Amino acid sequence: KPVIAIVGRPNVGKSTIFNRIVGERVSIVEDIPGITRDRIYSAGEWLNHEFNIIDTGGIEIGDAPFLIEIRQQAEVAIDEADVIIFMTNGREGVTSADEEVAKILYKSKKPVVLAVNKIDNPEMREQIWDFYALGFGEPFPISGSHGLGLGDLLDEASKHFPKDAGDNYGDEVIKFSLIGRPNVGKSSLVNALLGQERVIVSNVAGTTRDAVDTPYSKDGQDYVIIDTAGMRKRGKVYESTEKYSVLRALRAIERSDVVLVVLDGEEGIIEQDKKIAGYAHEAGRAVVIVVNKWDAVKKDEKTMKEFEEKIRAHFQFLDYAPIVFLSAKTRKRTQTLLPMINKACESHNLRVPTNVLNEVIMDAIAMNPTPTHNGQRLRVYYATQVAVKPPTFVVFVNDAELMHFSYERFLENRIREAFDFTGSPIKIISRTRN
Ligand code: GDP
Repeated sequence: KPVIAIVGRPNVGKSTIFNRIVGERVSIVEDIPGITRDRIYSAGEWLNHEFNIIDTGGIEIGDAPFLIEIRQQAEVAIDEADVIIFMTNGREGVTSADEEVAKILYKSKKPVVLAVNKIDNPEMREQIWDFYALGFGEPFPISGSHGLGLGDLLDEASKHFPKDAGDNYGDEVIKFSLIGRPNVGKSSLVNALLGQERVIVSNVAGTTRDAVDTPYSKDGQDYVIIDTAGMRKRGKVYESTEKYSVLRALRAIERSDVVLVVLDGEEGIIEQDKKIAGYAHEAGRAVVIVVNKWDAVKKDEKTMKEFEEKIRAHFQFLDYAPIVFLSAKTRKRTQTLLPMINKACESHNLRVPTNVLNEVIMDAIAMNPTPTHNGQRLRVYYATQVAVKPPTFVVFVNDAELMHFSYERFLENRIREAFDFTGSPIKIISRTRN
């Protein structure tokens, strides 16, 4: 998907616009316990265009001075985006900070669309003329608080989307990525898998926005490893910031079939791990949890079990993900990883026969009566699998409002008991049918 980044000095309304553009989408996602939502990167849609959007204002550079901070945010945008929306504030006119941002954007070859925010009514439109001076052509008047002008702005932005944003690996190739905070051992694990001490730092020329892709074959199966760790070694200042590495991980997740969530067995689980894992889940990718550095852990016969329980407690939403304990350093159990990836991928692509699915659903209902609300009972007519990657089931019911989250969860568990979806999330959608 093409990427739009919003840049601009603080207080021009970047977050308001970001929320406007992605808002409805985000709010329909039900709250899943344990997932910390980070609102700097989200999917958006305009007419028939799907895209991802970054609010660079949400990327905190720590205690960097103001000008350095916006400069770095602009750099993130230039590196990551296909189109940049440069936001300014129509009530304050062109400021020196705007000019500062403009200078950085001139140097990039990325298309820039200039937006003048806080133009809340037509009388204020005259205020946009000053902004021509920034040198980015016609300024687009918008109002974040009133939701005005966004259509025209997104029309313009979408004109600059690249024609072909996908990659051309065949369907039979399994694409996987390793995500996790710095130093959990992602690069080491890639090296261990590749079976050679090879530090993957060399980037393919010109593809700054993509992670390093390494094709790889084993036992007749082709893989592409989407490596984010290699990118980090390009050594820009902002790459040390936590949110930036999250952004990097998100891009990799999106292109993957299977995501390996890598944890540090020695250090244990921290909040940042949960955030990263949450994104893998929300993206609907197959997931394998990898506990690395297991060699460095002092253990007895209970240690693994206890660590596993800790993972299950912290990552409840990933209850379908298998866990592999290994050591990239000693290579112990690294050979179990690919079979696990294959399995997760198979689950992600699994289609179940409609008749068997319906038997499972009807048995489930017989065992545990459907919920009622205000004297109305949920009635389930039938279910059908409508998609894979992840497997998605539509359940036709008398009134979708009567479907309770916990009952949906119950049905999911019954489906999982009947079919092997190890490593893959599954989605259940209730539809009212009269
Ligand atoms: P990345 O930032 O996630 O790519 O992590 P690296 O692969 O660069 O590894 C970070 C550090 O952890 C390095 O010093 C590695 O040598 C060390 N490391 C990686 N895997 C293991 C492991 O399995 N066991 C131990 N003891 N150390 C490891």
